[in-house]
Amino acid sequence: MRLVLDGGALVANWRALDRLSGKASAGAAVKADGYGLGASEVVQRLSKAGCGDFFVAHWGEAQALAGRVDPARLAVLHGIAPGEEAAARAGFAVPVLNSAEQITRWRQAGGGRCHVMIDTGMSRLGLDWRENIAGLCAGLDVDLCMSHLASADEDSAQNAAQLQRFETVRQSVQAARYSFANSAGIALGRDYQFDCTRPGLALYGGVPCDALAKHVSPVMRLETRILQVRHVRAGDSIGYGATYVARHDMRTATLALGYADGFKRALSSIGAFRHGDARLPILGRVSMDLTCIDLAAAPDLSEGDWIAADLVLPEVQAATGISQYEWLTQIGRRFDRIWVD
Ligand SMILES: *Cc1c(COP(=O)(O)O)cnc(C)c1O
Repeated sequence: MRLVLDGGALVANWRALDRLSGKASAGAAVKADGYGLGASEVVQRLSKAGCGDFFVAHWGEAQALAGRVDPARLAVLHGIAPGEEAAARAGFAVPVLNSAEQITRWRQAGGGRCHVMIDTGMSRLGLDWRENIAGLCAGLDVDLCMSHLASADEDSAQNAAQLQRFETVRQSVQAARYSFANSAGIALGRDYQFDCTRPGLALYGGVPCDALAKHVSPVMRLETRILQVRHVRAGDSIGYGATYVARHDMRTATLALGYADGFKRALSSIGAFRHGDARLPILGRVSMDLTCIDLAAAPDLSEGDWIAADLVLPEVQAATGISQYEWLTQIGRRFDRIWVD
């Protein structure tokens, strides 16, 4: 099984998002191993293209990128938990301080350059915009003062409300730079862009909102091999639960790919593979390591041949109700990752 990853498309997506970010420069969210594509490969390609700022969630993720990125421009979004002071001081990356406790921990550990996260309406991570932000941040050497949008991918009044709160908070935090927009936030326009944007999903070929559709190309192609070709007879059933019963004789293929690889069971009976222009539908349930497809439209395929999943992120999201973020980040470790470009 292999993921064929298009480095040219990744870079083109970043360039498009950087351009759409106006005066702001686009960074890149590379947490969760670059949304499952491989953070080091992503960072290497985007750095070369001119991307300066990178965001991970954990210190371990930062450490794994040591030597590949300027530590001053690598941010750890989760900040400093008790016991992580040493990691935070080791110089792999800069912490994003999310709470009064994290700020205290950073000061006690010796302080220095940091980022701060302001919660403007997600009730998740960050200093509550209603707190005494100026007091909490007094004397901190803040590079990025940032906040995160809850509904950027929707036409929601929450976006403007969060923006207004961020604008207010901005007056009380002295920072070198301000940052607000994720992928979808970039498409909300100039007011949302500030100095640095933080796209993730759209870099990797996800399409969070219609406005970005024409600027984003797919990066990942999922390929696997035909383990076995079968002649299924009328009346035979296929897979667990016998959810598919052949109405006529048919030629099918069993593929080495299943939900343990992140190829989710939700695609049972509705997903497909591609061979040239031919669409080869999935028959019955996706198993843990195996999936069966109809070969009627591809009579030339045989055992051992490689075949690509028809996995267009916004389409599988629409078809399964499972978000593009989950599709990307849950693709498993069994794949060989093959970068072209
Ligand atoms: C993950 C993340 C991003 C990237 O969001 P996308 O929707 O993938 O573009 C940006 N900012 C923060 C704080 C994040 O956690």
